[in-house]
Amino acid sequence: MTTDTEESRKELKELSEKIHLWAEGYAGENGWKLNGDERQLGAVLKGLARNTIKYGEQYCPCRIRSGDPEKDAEIICPCIYHEDEIKNDGNCHCQFFFK
Ligand code: SF4
Repeated sequence: MTTDTEESRKELKELSEKIHLWAEGYAGENGWKLNGDERQLGAVLKGLARNTIKYGEQYCPCRIRSGDPEKDAEIICPCIYHEDEIKNDGNCHCQFFFK
């Protein structure tokens, strides 16, 4: 028998892995890389997975949601800012995608 906590941990882990696979593909298509620091990368992945479970959308874990779904659509990963940030700063605000 599994407990709720085990279930939710499993769900979070599986979703994080799914997002990781998507992000690797997306980064590759654009000639980018994911953060090479496993700990930082894991924190972003977990944050994205948590938001997906909690809010139903893959909201950026490094930005504040306004609560207005139309406005917050801008910060569903990959957010509307990431291309400019990667181009200008070398990485997105969350340090998820790198040039
Ligand atoms: S800042 Fe990075 S992690 Fe956050 S939504 Fe934009 S692309 Fe995704």
